[in-house]
Amino acid sequence: MTRIGFIGLGNMGGPMAANLARAGHTVQVFDLVAESLTRAIEAGCIAAGDAREAVSGCELVISMLPAGEHVRSLWLGEGAGERGGQDLLAALPLGALVIDCSTIDVASARQVGAAAQARGIRFLDAPVSGGVAGAAAGTLTFIVGGEQADFEAAKPVLACMGQNLFHAGALGAGQIAKMCNNMLLAIHMAGTAEALALGVKEGLDPGVLSTIMGKSSGNNWSLERYNPWPGVMENAPASRNYQGGFMTRLMVKDLGLAMALAEHAHSAVPMGALARNLFNLHATKGQGARDFSSIVELYLDKTEPG
Ligand code: NAD
Repeated sequence: MTRIGFIGLGNMGGPMAANLARAGHTVQVFDLVAESLTRAIEAGCIAAGDAREAVSGCELVISMLPAGEHVRSLWLGEGAGERGGQDLLAALPLGALVIDCSTIDVASARQVGAAAQARGIRFLDAPVSGGVAGAAAGTLTFIVGGEQADFEAAKPVLACMGQNLFHAGALGAGQIAKMCNNMLLAIHMAGTAEALALGVKEGLDPGVLSTIMGKSSGNNWSLERYNPWPGVMENAPASRNYQGGFMTRLMVKDLGLAMALAEHAHSAVPMGALARNLFNLHATKGQGARDFSSIVELYLDKTEPG
């Protein structure tokens, strides 16, 4: 069994670390939020006082943070104050393996990866798909960029948290594939919400309409596994007031990353741009901390028919 350092115990990192502990690994964890540490201890992890303590004695370290700035701050020491100045790469032994599972910009992933390699530390960008339910069930999809040999070395540990392990290509390729995926996710979530709202406004039951479309050509992951309408799917964030899922503000971040990627690639993304505007509008209405499937509420304004 491996001694693993794990930094970032939010909606995703918490259950991922718990699955590593359940599989018998020694998991040393740290998060800035005290309650997350308490939950991790209950799940069998060992809480550390700071990130440096969490990685001490570890040959393998996983980070699961919100965005590129947090990852650069943790691993390179960029920024100041409580969230900065860690330069955690300096605390690792030669040959250690860092797996960053956060969804971040390609440039940050490559920057941290290059800094790690310069110090003789191996680095993989390994963003995930599957949501909080997938993290809890250990059925995540890992989308990995980096050296093939490092991917092979990471596989046994990733398999404790996920079912599908993909090597997308060189350093940064995991993030590129993840951005393409999340742009598509945003588009089909907004489309699903739009279709459900239309049917319900015309008198259909949202559960019946979901079943019909789920067996028809409109079926998709948002409809079938993450239904945005409250009460249709017991375990979806929609049925718990959109709490504890994938925050709208994180989807806005991912869509911003996809737009930057599209600019770099000179690739037209009209649907992605529209989805970004929709989720951004939703976030500016005070919905940034709620699950992104709450986008359905944008379609439910009680305006009088003209
Ligand atoms: P979250 O905000 O719930 O968790 C992030 C955690 O990182 C927080 O607990 C925060 O306290 C901690 N943190 C930030 N800086 C830190 C530091 N310097 N040291 C220690 N802890 C620190 O976010 P999440 O939903 O868990 O998402 C994490 C990443 O995974 C994001 O990049 C997100 O885009 C991606 N992701 C999320 C989902 C989802 O469904 N929630 C799905 C796939 C991918």
